[in-house]
Amino acid sequence: MNAQMNALTKYPHLFAPLDLGFTQLKNRVLMGSMHTGLEDVENAGERMAEFFAERARGGVGMIITGGISPSPAGGRGAKLTNDAEVATHRIVTDAVHAADKDVKIVMQILHSGALAGTPDCVAPSAIKSRIGAYVPNELDAEGVEGQIENFVRCATLAQAAGYDGVEIIGSAGYLISTFLVEKTNQRTDEWGGSWENRMRFAVEIVRRTRAAVGPNFIVVFRISAMDMLQGGLAWDEVVSLGKAIEAAGASIISTHFCWHEAQVPTIATMVPRAAFAGVTGRLRKELGIPLITSNRINMPDVAEAVLAAGDADLVSMARPMLADADLIKKTLEGREDEINTCIACNQACLDHTFTGRMTSCLVNPRACRETELKIEPATASKRIAVVGAGPAGLAYATTAAQRGHEVTLFDAADEIGGQFNLAKRIPGKEEFVETLRYFRRMIDVYGITLKLGTRVDAASLKAGGFDEVVVATGIAPRRPDIDGIDHPKAVSYVDVIMGRAPVGQKVAIMGAGGIGFDVAELITHKGVSAALDIDVFAKEWGIDFKNHPRGGVTGVEPVVESSGREVTLLQRKSGAPGKGLGKTTGWTHRLTLQRRGVQMMGGVEYVRIDDEGLHTLVNGEPVLLDVDTVIICAGQLPARDLYDALVAQGVNATLIGGAFEASELDAKRAINQATELAVAA
Ligand code: FAD
Ligand code: NAP
Ligand code: SF4
Repeated sequence: MNAQMNALTKYPHLFAPLDLGFTQLKNRVLMGSMHTGLEDVENAGERMAEFFAERARGGVGMIITGGISPSPAGGRGAKLTNDAEVATHRIVTDAVHAADKDVKIVMQILHSGALAGTPDCVAPSAIKSRIGAYVPNELDAEGVEGQIENFVRCATLAQAAGYDGVEIIGSAGYLISTFLVEKTNQRTDEWGGSWENRMRFAVEIVRRTRAAVGPNFIVVFRISAMDMLQGGLAWDEVVSLGKAIEAAGASIISTHFCWHEAQVPTIATMVPRAAFAGVTGRLRKELGIPLITSNRINMPDVAEAVLAAGDADLVSMARPMLADADLIKKTLEGREDEINTCIACNQACLDHTFTGRMTSCLVNPRACRETELKIEPATASKRIAVVGAGPAGLAYATTAAQRGHEVTLFDAADEIGGQFNLAKRIPGKEEFVETLRYFRRMIDVYGITLKLGTRVDAASLKAGGFDEVVVATGIAPRRPDIDGIDHPKAVSYVDVIMGRAPVGQKVAIMGAGGIGFDVAELITHKGVSAALDIDVFAKEWGIDFKNHPRGGVTGVEPVVESSGREVTLLQRKSGAPGKGLGKTTGWTHRLTLQRRGVQMMGGVEYVRIDDEGLHTLVNGEPVLLDVDTVIICAGQLPARDLYDALVAQGVNATLIGGAFEASELDAKRAINQATELAVAA
């Protein structure tokens, strides 16, 4: 009880209820809409029900579902278009209300318009999106009316399914937003041309929806507060749309930032926390109904600060609820240090969504697998040794200990984290520290015996009499077998990141995987990390928060500060480096480095390193890179010496993480594999 009182004092705005007149939200945090893929599986109702119910039990005030299409042409995913489809949704709403009757569940109505990914997709004008698969079919006047009716029907079906409200998405390049913006709406009838005409579609949908659902139903409208697009909405248009939507009967306006086709990162890990909340704050001053802000609000103190500053009435935390379903509950109980923080990597959520895979979470593999990956008490407690406190060893140790096993965790280093201690030093990856803080706390919570600075060998493990030994010893960086690899110019990425190796003015990076890119970022970086400073971030991405030009962007090539080093990033395979980076974040890394003047070369054969630099063959022609330093980022090999020795001594050992398979290893795979094995231990 004391902890709760403290939390209410520490987070007075966050835990203040919000009165909507006809209903109340119990606090100011909602789980924002995410398409998880659960909507599209065979037992969608049951899977979504458990996913959302777990979040409802976790203390959030309101949940917004993933986007549900109001018509077949509105998207390839789930639809709500007729009475027969109501039953699936009823499973979801019943489960959420049973979990906590005070939690509101709101269904997002999403018509993807030109981004629907079907040949019969529709839009106000037949203009293909830069990222769309098809040229959309232009709606005629009757078609426009039909689409409005589809939204209204969908909302009434949602009401029949037991939802507390609907969210109508009017942003991101989806159908409604393409009516608003001139470059995608070139109509000459009452739905195009003047601003009044362009916003008519959005306003009519809200007005007719409100008329159909009555006064006691939440209607959220998601407005594009900054399109991040040249030719996007001007600020006065955003304000006038907000006012019209309010007058049309919306209960809440949710601010959204960015069309999907825009070239500005808005949620990736290099975006500062709460970077866009100020824009919501400005709009809030113009409107009378509550406003939601979002984007990179991943911890309760950030949410409280946004609310306290008056920038919003409600804070949307979407991915943070994948990372930790109990985020609000832990906050209320004074256990913030136990929150598994979203590090904004996008690796298991958006990268999956945009490649047609089920969403999950790098730091929480249970996300969207609630019905299958269950952490249950072990039938018998075992003594388990886990060697290596990198992501794999940490995930295994904490999950096994949570199940009641007696776990001892060894690491040769003086701190837990393994390679995450390198990752956290890369500008833009500051959030990785949170994962280490979380695991460090879990080690205490689950009573794990932690032995740092302890390089264990097979003999000591055998003597320890453990029931099981789990080997999570990670990797060893690969040293390619080329002439001059021992030359003083050749240095390992580990030594560069740790600041142990001097780096010259002219640099070649051998290997252009994730680590090659991170090293390029590190050595070309200058000044404060954009992730930690909103002004630097805005400058690097051409955003003008102060003057809010049309679309919010300056339209001139952004200035990205650089260390001034001449850097060439190389790979052996042909083509442009960076193709293997994350689907939703790779482009940001490529663009940043290009803006810093980093040269990228594919199809390179390494010949030798000597006093002259790095000798290569490109298309069979000798090319000398006259560099001072060659940083080797050529992948990794599994570190299995300990495992081999254990096997030789007849000790039963299990390999996980990089030690199991170094190729294409990332923390997502390491944590997922470790968790899956630990739930079965
Ligand atoms: P490791 O992290 O390598 O941990 C192994 C641990 O075992 C180490 O702490 C080591 O000290 C210990 N150890 C080894 N032998 C012994 C012994 N005999 N006794 C005791 N202890 C021992 N992945 C992502 O998913 N996303 C990213 O954005 C990302 N960025 C990265 C950036 C950089 C710069 C680097 C270097 C890596 C990055 N990675 C990223 C990769 C990610 O960190 C690895 O995939 C992950 O750390 C592998 O986990 P692991 O537990 O298998 O091994
Ligand atoms: P990687 O992505 O596998 O890249 C290794 C690079 O080395 C490639 O460019 C590869 O391309 C080159 N290479 C491989 N063998 C070589 C050899 N014998 N000689 C010379 N070059 C060789 O591995 P990584 O960059 O070391 O990263 C390790 C893991 O960490 C990756 O799996 C990655 O997913 C993860 N990580 C992720 C991120 C992220 O932001 N998501 C960031 C950092 C790391 P060529 O063979 O074409 O030269
Ligand atoms: Fe956050 Fe990464 Fe998990 Fe997505 S995968 S929810 S970005 S931590």
